[in-house]
Amino acid sequence: MVRFVNHLAVGFAAVKEVTGNMLGDKKVTVVFVLGGPGSGKGTQCANIVEHFGFTHLSAGDLLRAEIKSGSENGTMIESMIKEGKIVPSEVTIKLLQEAIITSANDKFLIDGFPRNKENRAAFENVTNISPAFVLFFDCSEEEMEKRLLGRNQGRVDDNIETIRKRFKVFIESSLPVIEYYNGKAKVKKIDAAKPIPEVFEDVKAIFAPYAPNAA
Ligand code: UDP
Ligand code: MG
Repeated sequence: MVRFVNHLAVGFAAVKEVTGNMLGDKKVTVVFVLGGPGSGKGTQCANIVEHFGFTHLSAGDLLRAEIKSGSENGTMIESMIKEGKIVPSEVTIKLLQEAIITSANDKFLIDGFPRNKENRAAFENVTNISPAFVLFFDCSEEEMEKRLLGRNQGRVDDNIETIRKRFKVFIESSLPVIEYYNGKAKVKKIDAAKPIPEVFEDVKAIFAPYAPNAA
């Protein structure tokens, strides 16, 4: 299956065609999970997967896997991540799109994407997918900084210098995306500064319509 997709995903036009064909009849539900670095997106996505049967697509994890795979873009992606910069849309969108196409599931959490206006517009244009809603984890920088410096995941960007850059990019580039969807009444905002189980209580209320037994 992966080989099949790689074979067809030679260029953007081809990818679009594949999506058109493969997603044309398949109704896909996508939720964008956004929030600053360290706001708890990954943690809560794992909970949502477990309770509501979504597939978790972390854009950051897909990019890190791409570095590890030794792809020709790996060096470029790595230096962007080290600098807290946003990787070119076509790279991230290709990874997301392949993951959606190869999955048997039809419900996806897209975590950490779109990060800027260009990411958002390009994803819409290429995939024709608009999100059911945007889950926004709202958290103070002070709390996020504490969490990022406290976790030990060996990430090249969890140092104070890169963290400051990521905060700046989040405010300048990513918050406007959240504002855009807010203007479309699509944002569901969560107080993400609370302990993990309390945040998940609020998340659960939002996902109730997607519960396995909900009509
Ligand atoms: N990144 C990117 N585009 C994306 C998602 C991530 O360029 O759509 C890069 C960016 O450099 C970011 C890093 O990957 O700072 C880590 O992203 P991730 O979502 O894993 O972490 P977060 O900053 O949200 O904690
Ligand atoms: Mg993450």
